[in-house]
Amino acid sequence: ILEVNRLVHTFGDFTALNDVSLSANSREFVTLLGPSGSGKSTLLRILAGLELPTRVDALILDGHDVADVPANRRNVATVFQHYGLFPHLNVLENVEYGLRVRKVAKAERRQRALRMLEQVQLADFAHRNIAKLSGGQKQRVALARSLVLEPVILLLDEPLGALDEKLRIDMQVELLQLQRSLGMTFIYVTHSQEEALTMSDRILLMNQGRIVQEGTPEDMFDRPASRFAASFMGMEN
Ligand code: ATP
Ligand code: MG
Repeated sequence: ILEVNRLVHTFGDFTALNDVSLSANSREFVTLLGPSGSGKSTLLRILAGLELPTRVDALILDGHDVADVPANRRNVATVFQHYGLFPHLNVLENVEYGLRVRKVAKAERRQRALRMLEQVQLADFAHRNIAKLSGGQKQRVALARSLVLEPVILLLDEPLGALDEKLRIDMQVELLQLQRSLGMTFIYVTHSQEEALTMSDRILLMNQGRIVQEGTPEDMFDRPASRFAASFMGMEN
């Protein structure tokens, strides 16, 4: 469902992504794992169409080459750590927002938004003000707001980074259940090897702008291909 061949991205004379190739299958949970500054967010922003790559041989999404296609014309949605919710709109209005932009009729909009709020267990909070939600609830509104658009891929950049330990573990389970029940492809960015090992079908390990190893969580943990991989995968959290 996603294929990227030989992507390079530079900021001035700094190479943030160096010859990156990757793919993701339908319904797969793929994690981009790596230390701070390894290029994870830059790669995600390029996949989202928020940034155009300096150079790429091919960037295929759902059968189309989208290398030059901007964010609003790609069928992907994103969730970031800093939820980016609209504080002046209530929960339901936040979830409906993207459907309104896409000119979906009001009755259908409402129905789809409410159904998605049920999926993330927030149906009772539909008319609540955003400011009166906990961190975990805000994160679930952000998820619902992206998922309601029915993207072919959901891109998540450290979505649980702002949550405390206990909530983060609960939300890991919830996210995984949601991904399985919707049958959606997730590309998930984290610097936590523990999170990557628990959630992923496949892990792409990044370092200094390159994908240095990829494999299942078992592969990555049992057979690290480099000293870097061994120390990063075995790292205490
Ligand atoms: P973190 O885990 O800290 O979020 P990351 O893996 O997401 O890190 P990126 O944000 O992709 O890292 O950044 C990769 C490198 O590119 C970093 O060295 C960063 O300083 C640099 N960089 C990112 N955005 C820009 C920019 N707009 N201009 C210049 N350099 C940038
Ligand atoms: Mg980042």
